[in-house]
Amino acid sequence: MSDVRATTRSQELYAHARELLPGGVNSPVRAMKAIGREPIFIARGAGSRVWDVDRNEYVDWVSSWGPLILGHAHPAVVEAVAEAAARGTSFGAPTEAEVQLALEMSGRMPSVEMMRMTSSGTEATMSAIRLARAVTGREKVLKFAGAYHGHVDGLLTEAGSGLATQGIPASPGVPAAATAATVTVPWNAPETLPSSSDLAAILVEPIPANMGVVPPHDRFLETLRAEADRSGALLIFDEVITGFRVARGGAQGHLNVLPDLTIMGKVIGGGLPAAAFGGSRELMERIAPAGDVYQAGTLSGNPLATAAAVATLRQLGDAAYGRLAETTETLAGGLREAAAEAGVALTVQSVPGLVTPFFSDRPVWNYAQAAKADLQAYAAFARALLDRGVYPPPSQFEAWFPSLAHTQEDIEHTLDAAREAFGEVADR
Ligand code: PMP
Repeated sequence: MSDVRATTRSQELYAHARELLPGGVNSPVRAMKAIGREPIFIARGAGSRVWDVDRNEYVDWVSSWGPLILGHAHPAVVEAVAEAAARGTSFGAPTEAEVQLALEMSGRMPSVEMMRMTSSGTEATMSAIRLARAVTGREKVLKFAGAYHGHVDGLLTEAGSGLATQGIPASPGVPAAATAATVTVPWNAPETLPSSSDLAAILVEPIPANMGVVPPHDRFLETLRAEADRSGALLIFDEVITGFRVARGGAQGHLNVLPDLTIMGKVIGGGLPAAAFGGSRELMERIAPAGDVYQAGTLSGNPLATAAAVATLRQLGDAAYGRLAETTETLAGGLREAAAEAGVALTVQSVPGLVTPFFSDRPVWNYAQAAKADLQAYAAFARALLDRGVYPPPSQFEAWFPSLAHTQEDIEHTLDAAREAFGEVADR
């Protein structure tokens, strides 16, 4: 694979896009501002690779931010979607594939007996919180600084640095009333959990990946489980990233702690818009029309997304998860070694299917520590990788997403590029 030469067409498209789309993109991180460069417009993908509109080829470690566990344009997924499309793209009526998908998902996620499908993780989170509030008759939601659960008004709160912070809106346009019922505490700090018994839900990324990968301390999830049981709150695992990725049964299967409700997304759509929330039959039967908690969606359980989902999950057996874990470890270990050789302070944190190289000389256990990483070093590293045909997440606070399409050759190419890129970081 040759180095990236020009990105002229990307620059032209970006200039045009900025006149039509705010910031030239449809989701902020894509603009690559955090690494100080212009975005790259993608023309196509196959397996572990993407090609930009200037015909440069990249090993892709973003994998659409998680959905593409099989890589780009996997033949089984493409075929399933094409077949479904030929039968009709949407009916607004139930289909057999939704039943098949629900069976596949509930068979994998230990705590999910019944589910409701949505089109995005944001919708699923919003609806799961509504259900928790209805079930408990309470309003407050506890979340963790540095976690992300979609752009739900009430969850866009400032991340506090220290003790619990009562929700302060993190974006203009979010009403103070929407965040007033959100309590934010630092991750991995059991001593900061509120002792009150007025929480509707404890909402948690069981293995946070939106401040970079920051796994829970030993027994922290068990503490949250016990705290939910003590206070009568529902424990909600947001497994939008971890579900069907870190293990067959998601983080709950991997770490053996069961939530009351689970939010799922990304992998289950196989690259099409699909998400869901689920839990015990008793809780989920509060959702309309079985129960009285309103929730709906024109495209929920959409036939194309459902077909992609079933096709994706059917590829994900035990062997696949073993392979994904190996790929992750080889990449993580290789980055560690390459940084050490270059004399760059790097802490690589990983779980199967997720990796973050933090430009930090010590382990990162919470958002305040993640924020202290050398963001300029990450930016220089990411830019240098892109110049060498490797596409990393364009932000320090994200996970790299290995897929089953990544090969030994992809890893070697990435590590060759990383050795040079670390050299550039060291010489800054
Ligand atoms: N929860 C988590 C853990 C996420 O990472 C994301 C998106 N990155 C969401 C929820 C929101 O999902 P969506 O972007 O599909 O609305």
